[in-house]
Amino acid sequence: MWKEGCIALNAIILDAPGQLRLLQTEQPQAPGSGEALVRIRQVGVCGTDIHAFRGEQPFFSYPRILGHELGVEIVALGARESHLRVGMRCAVLPYLQCGRCPACRRGKPNCCVNLKVLGVHVDGGMREYALVPTSHLHPSETLTFEQLALVEPLGIGSHAVSRGQLDPGERVLVIGAGPIGLAVTQFALLAGAHVFVMDISPSRLAFCQQMHPQATCIDGQQEPLAALQALVGDDLPTAVFDATGNPVSMKSAFQYVAYGGRLIFVGLFQGDISFHDPYFHSHELTILSSRNSTAEDFRHIIHYLETKQIHLDSWITHQTSSETMIEEFPHWFDRDSNIIKGLISF
Ligand SMILES: [Zn+2]
Ligand SMILES: [Zn+2]
Repeated sequence: MWKEGCIALNAIILDAPGQLRLLQTEQPQAPGSGEALVRIRQVGVCGTDIHAFRGEQPFFSYPRILGHELGVEIVALGARESHLRVGMRCAVLPYLQCGRCPACRRGKPNCCVNLKVLGVHVDGGMREYALVPTSHLHPSETLTFEQLALVEPLGIGSHAVSRGQLDPGERVLVIGAGPIGLAVTQFALLAGAHVFVMDISPSRLAFCQQMHPQATCIDGQQEPLAALQALVGDDLPTAVFDATGNPVSMKSAFQYVAYGGRLIFVGLFQGDISFHDPYFHSHELTILSSRNSTAEDFRHIIHYLETKQIHLDSWITHQTSSETMIEEFPHWFDRDSNIIKGLISF
């Protein structure tokens, strides 16, 4: 039980690329108005964390406490908090918007001009305790801390699908069967779409097929357009999601979109995407980006998890604790690790 004046607490800090260190942090303050003190229980890791670890994350400054996929327990609340109470388990929406910029004023906090993401721009959740705004806590009576930590990565997929505005029965292609592509597939299926999934990794495709038997998997290694056409003829998907963050894939994704269709870039990379304008024009394509997610996405996902319309157990392929994480984490992303999702307990 947390109380003021207790001993120093553990955190894992990334001092510089490749250098994780267990450190003792100052005791947390009591929460102010609109804040909660939370005990972090589970932290999911993803590509963002590994890019930061490898020194490949743009606009990233060190030292930084990573961790933006969080399952937490409320241990103390500031004044005037009616909808939350101590002991509640919550997911944390890690995107701290300014509330004042044009994007925030138009109801688009996920792409706030001054956005600060926990674990990226400000210190995140790889520590025992943290203060977070209560407005960013999403409680559940029944979900586990592991499930709550996975709400954030699911949110990326949920938000992308809401950007795509899918119609029931619509033909959809998802390129990339990593965690984000799996999440996009999940929400596209829930939207009633007929989903094709393409990846160059046979093991990822096999996993996707096992998770989503309703989806049709396509081996993207050889002649992927011909493989897709063999299934759909000339009636190509009207919505194509690229969840690879790979520029070669993102550039070639244009060829899979039907005339009049939408191309949604879920992943991103640091560089330019170019396309042939007459092709873009003749097809009257719409290109969309999808950034982060919203409180609404979080509420939907928690509902889907609570009502068991989404199952996550097989997602969790790697688990460690704060004591063993520094040793194990660098190997999670080795080529042969077959990681889908790794979690760290605190
Ligand atoms: Zn992530
Ligand atoms: Zn803003």
